[in-house]
Amino acid sequence: MKTPESLLPQNSLFDVAIIGGGIQGAGVAQAAAAAGYSVLLLERGDIGEGTSSKSSKLIHGGLRYLESGQVRLVWESLKERELLLKLAPDLVYRQHFHIPLYRSSKRKSWQLRLGLSLYYLLAGGGSDNRFRHNSSESLNNRFGELNQDDLTAIYRYSDAQTDDQALTQAVAYSAQQLGASLLCQAQLRKAQWHDGTYLIDAQVEGVNRRFKSRCLVNTAGPWVNLVASRIQPKPPAQDVELVQGTHLLYSTPISEHCYYLEAPQDGRVVFVLPWQGQTLVGTTETLYRGHPDDCQPLEEEVAYLKAVVTHYFPDNTQEPSAQFAGLRVLPKAEGSAFSRSREVQLVTKGNYLALYGGKLTGYRATAQRVIPHLERMVGLRNRVADTSELPLVPAESAFTSTP
Ligand SMILES: Cc1cc2nc3c(=O)[nH]c(=O)nc-3n(C[C@H](O)[C@H](O)[C@H](O)COP(=O)(O)OP(=O)(O)OC[C@H]3O[C@@H](n4cnc5c(N)ncnc54)[C@H](O)[C@@H]3O)c2cc1C
Repeated sequence: MKTPESLLPQNSLFDVAIIGGGIQGAGVAQAAAAAGYSVLLLERGDIGEGTSSKSSKLIHGGLRYLESGQVRLVWESLKERELLLKLAPDLVYRQHFHIPLYRSSKRKSWQLRLGLSLYYLLAGGGSDNRFRHNSSESLNNRFGELNQDDLTAIYRYSDAQTDDQALTQAVAYSAQQLGASLLCQAQLRKAQWHDGTYLIDAQVEGVNRRFKSRCLVNTAGPWVNLVASRIQPKPPAQDVELVQGTHLLYSTPISEHCYYLEAPQDGRVVFVLPWQGQTLVGTTETLYRGHPDDCQPLEEEVAYLKAVVTHYFPDNTQEPSAQFAGLRVLPKAEGSAFSRSREVQLVTKGNYLALYGGKLTGYRATAQRVIPHLERMVGLRNRVADTSELPLVPAESAFTSTP
C-alpha cells in the first residue's frame, strides 16, 4: 500500500513534508491529513523500522516516571493508553503487570502502594485499573518460576502491550487512507527554503526526486539533528543525548506473566514480558556517542540483562536467542538517564518544525500539538476527521519492502 511514485510527479507541491516514518512521523501524517492538509512523508527505509521497532512495546503511563515527578507525562500517556485500547483492539491489549516485593527491595511496600494509587487515579480509576496486593504464600503456585527467597508480596497493576512496528504501520495506513502520500526507501538529501516553499531533494529507491512543500516537519528520531543539518537555512537544533536501550529475546517463554522488576545490580526497573510466544527482557540506559546507524547491543548490556533474568528466574538455563538496541533522544542534562524527562520537545523556526524525544504511547497527543503550528505556517484547512475517533487496523506488511 505504498503510494505509487507515478502518482507523485516531479515538483509536486504539498502543504507538509514529513521526514521520518517512525511513530512520530506516522502520527503527524495522520493528524495533518485529518486536519485537511496535503501531506508527503519520506522514510528512508520501511515504515517503523527505526526506534519504533526497538521499544519495550508497552503502551503505558510509565509507572517509573512517577519516581522522577513526571506526573503530567504519565497522566497524558494513560489517557492515550485508554484511547488506543479502544481505537486499536487488534494491536493494543491490556495486561496485568506483577511487581514482586522482596525483603531487600529498594522500593518499599508503602512506596509501591503510593505510586500505584497515584497511577490508578491518573488513569481515571475504574475496575480495570485497580491494583492488588497479595502475600507471597498465596501466590507460590501461580508464580513458581520466580525466585522465592525472601519474597514477601506481589503487587499487580494494569497496563498494555503492543507490536510497536505494527502500530506504527497502522497509523501510517490511516494517514494514507486520509490522503497522505507515503514514500518508503525515500531518503532526504537536502531541503532548501526558496521563494516561499521548501525544495526537497530525495533519493527514492535509488532515483533522485524533487518535491515542494510549504513547511517541513522533522521526525527523524535519533537522526533528527543529522536531518536538520541537511536543511537550508540551517534550522535551530536542540542539544540532545542519545541513550541506548537494549532488549533480549528468549525463544522459550520464561513466564506467562508480565514482570516489573528491580535490577539487583542498581535498582533500575527491568521488564520481563511475554512477547509473541517468546520472552522479551529490557531495557538498559547507556549513553551513546556514535552514529545512530551503528547502534548495537553492547556485551555489558547483555550481561546486565542476563544477570537480572538469572537472579529472578533461577531455573532458567536458556541463552537469549536474539537481541536488539534502540536510541532514546533525551535532553542533554546532568544526572542519570533514568530520571531524565521523557516529554517531547517541539523546536520551530519559520516554516520548519522538529520533534525531539517523546514516547510511542503519546504519539497521537504529540501530533495534535503540531497542528496549531501547521495552522500558523500554512493556514487553516477544512478538517476531515478526528484522530481520537479513527480506528486503527493492522496494515500487515503494507509498508515493508519485499526482499
Ligand atoms: C529502548 C527503548 C525502549 C522504549 N520503550 C518504549 C515503550 O515501551 N513505550 C513507549 O511508549 N515508548 C517507548 N520508547 C520510546 C519510543 O520507542 C520512541 O520514542 C519512538 O519509537 C520514537 O519514534 P520516532 O518516530 O521519533 O523515531 P524513529 O522510530 O527512529 O523514526 C525516525 C525515522 O526517521 C527515518 N530517517 C532518518 N533519516 C532520514 C532521512 N534522511 N530521510 C528519510 N527518513 C529518515 C529513520 O529511518 C526512522 O525510521 C522506547 C525507546 C527506546 C529507545
